[in-house]
Amino acid sequence: MKLLRSELESEFKEKLFDINTSNLPDRGIGFSDQYIACTLTSSVVQFGFQVSGRLKAALQYDCDRCLDCFDYHLDLPIELCLTARKELKDNQGSEMILFPYEDDCIDISCDLADLIILARPMKSLCSDQCKGLCNFCGINLNRAFCDCVPAVDTDHWGALKKLKLD
Ligand SMILES: [Zn+2]
Ligand SMILES: [Zn+2]
Repeated sequence: MKLLRSELESEFKEKLFDINTSNLPDRGIGFSDQYIACTLTSSVVQFGFQVSGRLKAALQYDCDRCLDCFDYHLDLPIELCLTARKELKDNQGSEMILFPYEDDCIDISCDLADLIILARPMKSLCSDQCKGLCNFCGINLNRAFCDCVPAVDTDHWGALKKLKLD
């Protein structure tokens, strides 16, 4: 996704950018919608340009518990700082994006892909109630039952019965 210096200079407010995910670098992100939507506002600031807004994308994650693919709707705040001053970029590290004066546009595709990767939660579950995989036979317990589970259940009820008798 490219931003023109001229449009940054004239500033824009809550402008909608539809970005084709095929234009993003391949980082192994699964998209369930081909487009991601960014609503961005640009301002001219002392160090260069500030671009802020939100990014919305429909992603596909693998559940950490049952390993199934599921849709995840990402809605993420964005804040990008573009500067032509290399010394600022070096000081601030990855928070600043270098945008040299001689360039008339900047491609922020890599930065967007990084933000999407970083937004993945530490633990992603298809649902809070996900039953996961059977520890014994590996079957997906959200979709099927196996013989291993009733064996555990029988013991459970057995213990309850004992309690009642006491
Ligand atoms: Zn799951
Ligand atoms: Zn099983």
